[in-house]
Amino acid sequence: MKNEESSDRYPYLLKPLDLGFTTLRNRVLMGSMHTGLEEAWGGYEKMAAYYAERARGGVGLMVTGGVSPNFAGRVSPFSAQLSYFWQAWKHRKITEAVHREGGKIALQILHSGRYAFHPLAVAPSAIQSPISPFRPKELTQRGIERTIQDFVNCAHLAQSAHYDGVEIMGSEGYLIHEFIAQRTNYRKDRWGGSYQNRIRFPVEVVRRVREKVGSHFIIIYRLSMLDLVKEGSEWEEIVELGQKIQEAGATLINTGIGWHESRVPTIVTRVPRGVFALVTGRMRKHLTIPVIATNRINTPGLAEAILARGDADMISMARPFLADPDFVKKAREGREDEINSCIACNQACLDHVFQGKRASCLVNPRACYETELIFKPALKLKKIAVIGAGPAGLSFACAAASRGHQVTLFEANSEIGGQFNLAKKIPGKSEFSETLRYYQRQLVLNQVTLHLNHRVLSQEILEGGFDEVVLATGVIPRVPSIPGIDHPKVAFYGDVIQKKVKIGQSVAIMGAGGIGFDVAEFLSTPQEGVSFVEEWGIDLKSDRRGGLFESQGKSQDLRQIYLLQRTQGKLGSKLGKTTGWIHRASLQHKKVEMLDGVHYEKIDDQGIHLEVHGKKRLLAVDHVVICAGQQPQRDLFEPLKHSLISTHWIGGADSAAELDAKRAIDQATRLAVSI
Ligand code: FAD
Ligand code: NAP
Ligand code: SF4
Repeated sequence: MKNEESSDRYPYLLKPLDLGFTTLRNRVLMGSMHTGLEEAWGGYEKMAAYYAERARGGVGLMVTGGVSPNFAGRVSPFSAQLSYFWQAWKHRKITEAVHREGGKIALQILHSGRYAFHPLAVAPSAIQSPISPFRPKELTQRGIERTIQDFVNCAHLAQSAHYDGVEIMGSEGYLIHEFIAQRTNYRKDRWGGSYQNRIRFPVEVVRRVREKVGSHFIIIYRLSMLDLVKEGSEWEEIVELGQKIQEAGATLINTGIGWHESRVPTIVTRVPRGVFALVTGRMRKHLTIPVIATNRINTPGLAEAILARGDADMISMARPFLADPDFVKKAREGREDEINSCIACNQACLDHVFQGKRASCLVNPRACYETELIFKPALKLKKIAVIGAGPAGLSFACAAASRGHQVTLFEANSEIGGQFNLAKKIPGKSEFSETLRYYQRQLVLNQVTLHLNHRVLSQEILEGGFDEVVLATGVIPRVPSIPGIDHPKVAFYGDVIQKKVKIGQSVAIMGAGGIGFDVAEFLSTPQEGVSFVEEWGIDLKSDRRGGLFESQGKSQDLRQIYLLQRTQGKLGSKLGKTTGWIHRASLQHKKVEMLDGVHYEKIDDQGIHLEVHGKKRLLAVDHVVICAGQQPQRDLFEPLKHSLISTHWIGGADSAAELDAKRAIDQATRLAVSI
């Protein structure tokens, strides 16, 4: 009989990994993600369902979100800790649920060191991090010994809770990493000074954990292979540490890239897929235990290619399993076009976590809501019309049809996608087309009747015999009332992105929301630009300490671009928590001039006349691009308002304020499970 996991399509990815004392069913690791369920009321039941769903989907090995080995190491005062037996007991709900589904799971031990968001933070030296308001207390030698003991105790408790292993978090700038790096370790005792002394802490942690848990327990060590900060490690040092960790008893080495305080993007959409796997490949040559590649790997094809070329023994994907718990199963069954791909936007996962909210996923609102957002077959099957095939209309149509409803979807344009067809054209956002590929397939699988090039008029709705009508007609751009708004040099963002207008060498962008920033990126990115690694100064060969060199920025053929907003203060302050700084830095590389506190006076042949913080200024630009927000497209509102048909408004059609695809898809999905 054919092995369940073997596959002609993915012979490397789906090949079991023999670890000696245990075998993983394939080479896929679901990387650690904090979800916010760890601290939530009833969180263990919810986590059990969340992990079980992913185990059922076929992942080889999963790693939990970070759990601190003691109080000081907690990321925030209320975040998860595992130090006592009564805490371990609760984890059994998770491990039992995962094992029932044939999966394996390791607990990540994370001591946050100086990244702790509370006054009890400790670190090798009392040096505050640039991203935390708390200055850590320097650990005493006894404190260090106690902390190592806490790691050991935590791993032992994880074993008693029936985890298959632990991952020891040694990267991203947390405590262990702070011992290793010169920039955070100024100690003069046996835990600081020379590199040998600085790596004593991680090596001792791994050695003593192995001693305690015995040989039949997985220990993954997350090794920072590229620090992306000044005074980070050199390549020879990283290799030496990897080898010492191997000797100390690690089973697997996972890859860490960057510190949280690095000013280089490492996981967002604009990071090219799989770009850091080369670094793992270089490390693999120096080790005998299996190594795991990570960061921006989101398709089975890419994962297979990395393994096939020998850059890794296993592939870690984290967010792709929020987006689609059945990723592995679909790959195995040759249903790749059904995978709901992670588009690396961070909007519902990391951004939520940084705001203290429960994580989920923009393209899959069910993620972390497995016990709450349930798709049951509909009790009464209905005939439903959906108007508009943007993210809201698409997600509603697919979800409602999957429950058995008879759904007809009307779209005025010649293609599905609404505003996502603009988003996918922005440099670094091509992943958005994966969401449309996914919906395209779901429409077929769920037998939604799709009418393209069909602008719906109210009459056909009123006479169509529908039980329910869902209006997902989206948004139209706001037209600011400024003298000269109808001047020929004025263009709207949609026409610019679709290249319906040829934009000159100097341009002012009115409005600095998400779309204003995207348009600035679109207009400032030359066809043949410097590569991502050059722009951000990444030395993938790690020849330089910390893996950084002088950023190239962008130079040739630059347009003169002004990005304007009326509000006083930093531009882009409402952009995503984990992505806003990247948008700003990218535009700074391209010399985009950002102006706040702007009052628009008029637009004429000379350009755009402004008052900036009270001072008059003329920007003599060729074009003014309007990105001044949106208004709901509600031309069907009046005719349907008094009809007897049950009508629902979702996405931008419901409200344009604070609209984004996350809200549109979430609202649509929730309506679809209740209708
Ligand atoms: P829309 O996407 O506007 O779709 C509405 C659809 O209805 C359209 O296809 C329209 O043709 C159709 N329609 C309208 N009237 C009729 C009618 N009478 N008959 C038939 N069809 C009709 N959001 C994010 O979350 N993250 C991002 O990174 C992001 N980037 C963006 C970048 C750009 C450049 C743009 C323009 C938008 C971006 N957005 C982003 C916003 C996101 O795309 C929107 O919030 C989302 O598309 C709204 O979804 P919707 O379905 O409500 O409306
Ligand atoms: P937005 O974020 O609301 O920004 C609109 C901009 O226009 C603001 O800078 C606003 O700033 C300005 N403005 C508003 N009214 C104006 C007026 N009457 N005259 C002149 N300027 C005016 O909207 P958006 O940029 O159109 O984006 C739409 C949605 O798409 C957003 O909610 C966003 O979340 C989403 N999106 C997200 C991303 C992402 O990367 N996550 C990317 C693109 C879009 P002032 O009032 O200060 O001038
Ligand atoms: Fe990926 Fe965005 Fe979903 Fe996060 S919210 S898992 S980045 S698609």
